[in-house]
Amino acid sequence: MAVYVYKFGGTSVGTIERIKAVAQKVKKVRDTGDQIVVVVSAMSGETNRLIDMAKQMQAQPNGRELDALISTGEQVTTALLSMALEDLGCPACSYTGGQVKILTDSIHTKARIRKIDDSRIRADLEAGKVVVVAGFQGIDEDGNITTLGRGGSDTTGVALAAALKADECHIYTDVDGVYTTDPRIEPKARRLEQITFEEMLEMASLGSKVLQIRSVEFAGKYNVKLRVLSSFTEGNGTLITYEDTQVESALISGIAFNRDEAKLTITGVPDMPGVASKILAPIADENIEIDMIIQNISANGTTDFTFTVHRNDYVKAKKILEDICTELGAKQVLGDNSIVKISIVGVGMRSHAGIASTMFKTLAAENINIQMISTSEIKISVVVDEKYLELAVRALHAAFDLDKANVS
Ligand code: ASP
Ligand code: MG
Repeated sequence: MAVYVYKFGGTSVGTIERIKAVAQKVKKVRDTGDQIVVVVSAMSGETNRLIDMAKQMQAQPNGRELDALISTGEQVTTALLSMALEDLGCPACSYTGGQVKILTDSIHTKARIRKIDDSRIRADLEAGKVVVVAGFQGIDEDGNITTLGRGGSDTTGVALAAALKADECHIYTDVDGVYTTDPRIEPKARRLEQITFEEMLEMASLGSKVLQIRSVEFAGKYNVKLRVLSSFTEGNGTLITYEDTQVESALISGIAFNRDEAKLTITGVPDMPGVASKILAPIADENIEIDMIIQNISANGTTDFTFTVHRNDYVKAKKILEDICTELGAKQVLGDNSIVKISIVGVGMRSHAGIASTMFKTLAAENINIQMISTSEIKISVVVDEKYLELAVRALHAAFDLDKANVS
């Protein structure tokens, strides 16, 4: 007997018919004698609809009330799915996050899971029931409803799988796995059989929206076997796992990109100790996340300092930087919010030299100017003008033979 956690995303439970189809699928697993916990998202569009209503009440709704509202979407799906299962003669029981109890911290709209009490779930499973849990939500120590951030049902699924020591956690979604890049940009993109946690983490944080980043962190930390599959087509999906079991030996596993970046530069900054911190601390104080950072070598005692932020924070960050500029006696602030970041990701680059030069040569051949570069052990990112996004992604996809399986 195996224990599974199946998580179904919003499109997979988007209509009454689809919820009934999910019930059929789940019943089949339970009928084989395996134990199954199902985590569901809200029906597609529902969370947005709820947020929209909140905004019509108050420009900046209070986090506690917002969570009370947006957690309802998932509660609806759990009850409907349980009914559909019962109708098929499959005993089922629905739970909100609070009922389970999925204990979180009190940071409304982006709470983190602290502890899961799995006793009620285990008892139900032992009694032969399918347990249906609302994704995306928990409860804090004071009994307030919390939510885990957009896409948070993935994290609920993985966290439950970790708590129950499930054999596998399946994330059912509207794509049939993790791709070498976004197929809307490069139709030759290919589904990966496997990808490592580390690579998936990079892909997710670099803009691939298949899984919530936290769910991947969680899965890596607790060694949850995680599989991304389509709820509409048959197939193995993509297994996210540890490196040693990897069969594919490609240098690069995927190309991720992020359109949400903006670039800020402060020029003529006096080159002396403490300057980087003077520039970045006030930005961090405003909770603005900084991504890539570059400081040039100094000429005549001054230097230029460039970094990127999320496009939503561009105006605010620029204003802060202008104040710092005056304070430091720097020259000027320049900004560009029409840039994108493109990254190649792969554990294979650890053991292979020359990946960066292939990347840069490929972009040069297309006449694409690289504005910034940053690297990690398993990733190389460049910032380029947004108008080159498609061209760059396709050229890199071809250069690293990503359309062909099992290259080494
Ligand atoms: N319904 C929530 C959202 O749309 C959580 C989820 O679906 O994972 O973000
Ligand atoms: Mg999702």
